[in-house]
Amino acid sequence: MKIGVLALQGDFAEHIAMLKRLNVEASEVRLPEHLNGLDGLIIPGGESTTIGKLAVAYNLMDSLKTFGQRHAIWGTCAGAIFLSKDIGRDQPLLELMDIKVQRNAFGRQIDSFETNLDIPELKQATGTKEDYHAVFIRAPIIESVSGDAKILASVSDGRIVAAQQGHLLATSFHPELTNDTRFHEYFLTLVD
Ligand code: GLN
Repeated sequence: MKIGVLALQGDFAEHIAMLKRLNVEASEVRLPEHLNGLDGLIIPGGESTTIGKLAVAYNLMDSLKTFGQRHAIWGTCAGAIFLSKDIGRDQPLLELMDIKVQRNAFGRQIDSFETNLDIPELKQATGTKEDYHAVFIRAPIIESVSGDAKILASVSDGRIVAAQQGHLLATSFHPELTNDTRFHEYFLTLVD
């Protein structure tokens, strides 16, 4: 299995380190041809406007959209924004997932926070019982899901922070910045 990490901007190195810890072959994706031979792709956190602009500049938009129709893609934070269909403003989006996202929904950088999430699918897939300790940095929320997208996790006030649609996964938070490999393991179960 070979997983690519979109390496235009953001914390792609942390995702690659996480994949290596799981003994998965990982490579950086900067150009359309770097997608060849990959089984799945992770889009890291960072700044979604910058990631979008660079994806347009490097002629990656169509290749990423086509890749996502057949292969697993997981977007963390800015990556989740980039995967979504609608964010209520104009910036380049892959429009692959039927989720509506609001950027910076928890406030500014200073309002970044960590919290425990009960994610039954994650526990089941990894055979564990512990809640998931999630790190939110100027995070978006998933305002709503539609089509066959489903909610995976919400914070205590009910705001949605993780969703899945078939082989596509979106999380508002940053599993790559923790020591818990379970979310990466969960993503690998979506790769075929
Ligand atoms: N606020 C960023 C955006 O809107 C996302 C932040 C992050 O990825 N940690 O793109």
